Amino acid sequence: MKRVFLLTISVIATLFFVSGCTQKKNNRVQSGNGKITITATIFPQYDFVRAVAGGSRQPFADKVNLSMLLPPASESHSFEPTPKDIITIQKSDIFIYVGGESDEWVNRILESMDTRNMTIIALMDTVDVVEEEIVEGMEEEAVAEDSANTEEEAAYDEHVWTSPQNAVRIVRSIADALCSADNANADFYRQNADDYIAQLDELDAEFQAVVNNAKRKTIVFGDRFPFRYFADRYGLSYFAAFPGCSTETEPSAGTVAFLIDKIKAEKIPVVFYIELGNERMAGTIAEETGAEKLLLHACHNISKKDFENGATYIDLMRQNVENLRRALQ
Ligand SMILES: [Zn+2]
Repeated sequence: MKRVFLLTISVIATLFFVSGCTQKKNNRVQSGNGKITITATIFPQYDFVRAVAGGSRQPFADKVNLSMLLPPASESHSFEPTPKDIITIQKSDIFIYVGGESDEWVNRILESMDTRNMTIIALMDTVDVVEEEIVEGMEEEAVAEDSANTEEEAAYDEHVWTSPQNAVRIVRSIADALCSADNANADFYRQNADDYIAQLDELDAEFQAVVNNAKRKTIVFGDRFPFRYFADRYGLSYFAAFPGCSTETEPSAGTVAFLIDKIKAEKIPVVFYIELGNERMAGTIAEETGAEKLLLHACHNISKKDFENGATYIDLMRQNVENLRRALQ
């Protein structure tokens, strides 16, 4: 089923390329009213582009045509592009994706396109990646039959943006791409990027201060755990039901019992859940232990309401600072 679908979209992409290539020798900056056309697969890079292309100085849409493929509130790991999405990618001057196991569809799409005039950024290429980790008490996902040859690739944790220091490196790469695509406005982008990086550094310092002043260094998730880079950065240890990209949401009784025992034994005050998921497991653990159930937002995607209100990575992470403070007290 999936194969037929991908074949269909690569045919569409090829047709688009064949019909479009003659008049498009160099589409950079000319493809949309003199603006750079940028496509981001998911929320973090979409938000980083907004910061670099607009900042506090002007609306980002003055300089770029920016789109996010993942619809707000939808699940990022099971995303499949529509034919319209393929065309959006083909028209991009800059295309930004993550490059992990959820993006296996990307390479097949890009191979079917003329990407000579496209700048392509994979977030995972801009930072030092680490392997996804299975810690004590965590349920390992059963490996799907058809993914045997992607096992090695899948071992790297894709949630690189969850560390604000990684976000700094990603923002630098985005700024470089904007500057070379639209050199006339390079100073503007550089200044925005510098301002934004200062905010990310401040955020990083706030997390560090919370951890330095904390009573404990262990966090517990009644959920998946997409915070490997975040935990590494601040020296936190963690227990969780599933690794970050697991598609499992129903834990075994043993997994829940393990997390309940950990919380009781160490008198951990908070059990975390992540955004846009099923909060049931964290709810059960909270009921059994008296721990408070709180959100630690991994920023894969945001709700429709947050999207309409213009919520940013920094906003969501500021809330994380407060919730982490409560969890480590
Ligand atoms: Zn994830």
